[in-house]
Amino acid sequence: MIKFPAPIEGKPVKREEGCRICGEITAEQIGLVDYWDIKTSRLLKCPKCGHIQLDPMLTDAETSKGCYAYYIEESLRTGPEELARNCVRNFRRGVLFGHSLKRKRIFPQNILELGPGSGYFAAGLQFVFPQSMITVMDVNPEVLRSNREHHQYKSIQGIPDNLMAEYEGQFDLVIARDILEHVTDITAVLLNINQYLKPGGYLHFITPNGHEDVWKHYLTAIFEGKPSQMLINHVNYYDGKGLKDLLAVKGFSPVDYYTFTFKTTFKGFGWKKSKRLMSPVSQISGPERFSASYFINEKAGEVSSIEFKREEILDQWYIRDRARWITYLYSWFQHSTIFRIRPEFNVGHEIYGLFRKVQSLT
Ligand SMILES: [Zn+2]
Repeated sequence: MIKFPAPIEGKPVKREEGCRICGEITAEQIGLVDYWDIKTSRLLKCPKCGHIQLDPMLTDAETSKGCYAYYIEESLRTGPEELARNCVRNFRRGVLFGHSLKRKRIFPQNILELGPGSGYFAAGLQFVFPQSMITVMDVNPEVLRSNREHHQYKSIQGIPDNLMAEYEGQFDLVIARDILEHVTDITAVLLNINQYLKPGGYLHFITPNGHEDVWKHYLTAIFEGKPSQMLINHVNYYDGKGLKDLLAVKGFSPVDYYTFTFKTTFKGFGWKKSKRLMSPVSQISGPERFSASYFINEKAGEVSSIEFKREEILDQWYIRDRARWITYLYSWFQHSTIFRIRPEFNVGHEIYGLFRKVQSLT
């Protein structure tokens, strides 16, 4: 009998730190990864809550080095035209998200986005809520500068793991898109978000379905028994139920919680034991393209920031202040998710969450 999704299992090992979600002290090793040439860690799965995390966890210094190297590598790999297209896509997703809030009679005024990237998701949201105020938080000063210049957002330099007490109780909505898989301490992050929110405020996030996301590393461990290469710091692989339970403990109640996009599932991620789906075996002593220092020291100068202006990026036939319904319809046509399933099944690519703060924690 074939189980779907296929179980991810490993040998019991001693762990360096408890589960970041439930505190459990036993673990199974299901993989081994090299984060650039910076650190080798085990992928440990919690037998109690299903959470998979790096052990040892990356330090802040290791994370920022690897993230900077990845930022350079990705910018060089992705041309300016593609970057501009991504901006428009995110704008449309922001429009769609804004409309979904409106339909629920949610009208956020003060909005905080953690890790805003280009800032265009929030720009789409602001297109729907022109009176809203956007604040962005990031560790990278370059990201903050670009968000101020393109969008006139307020900016805070910091990481979600560290509470900035002056912003407690300030926001109606906190956005964390593709952030939760990167944070070293998810429990602290959710506690901080709870504190940034006003009573009854909302948290919106998307994050990969951990089971599918970790599959490539799991296969490398099974087939090769060697560390696989990790260039982007996914240090958490969430179980759909485990994440929801943690959110409940941190004072959040679900409004929308589902998994969407299944292209990767059809390819076999999460269930098919095929060598073609493996993450490459790490080659840290091999070519330069796997060395973080090489990118930081030799390649940083080649990165040019987005040279397009906001007006150019948003100069699309369907983006018109006077006909916002066309913008909405086109965004819906491009990005609406028709198939949705419960994250508890751990099937599919991406988890979408909209949660309401129902309890204030200190
Ligand atoms: Zn656990």
